[in-house]
Amino acid sequence: MAVDRLLFPRPETPRVYVERHRVDGVCAHCGAEALARYPVANHLGPRMVVKCQACFHHVSVTRPEPDDHWPAWRAPARDWPSSRVS
Ligand SMILES: [Zn+2]
Repeated sequence: MAVDRLLFPRPETPRVYVERHRVDGVCAHCGAEALARYPVANHLGPRMVVKCQACFHHVSVTRPEPDDHWPAWRAPARDWPSSRVS
């Protein structure tokens, strides 16, 4: 983990948003070719989802990989082995 993951500069855009990366495929619910992958924070915690942008059907919900940079505020000790004390 780099230090830049711990610093939060002021946003330079008037609106803060996530990039929705287009994914090839067809929605199993409505058949639209409008799938996108992007980060969300839901009741399970931070996750990466692939959702249909036409009907918002969930195609997949996965744990974020380090390359996803999500969440930006990940704890520095997150990947450390746990102690038997705690
Ligand atoms: Zn759909």
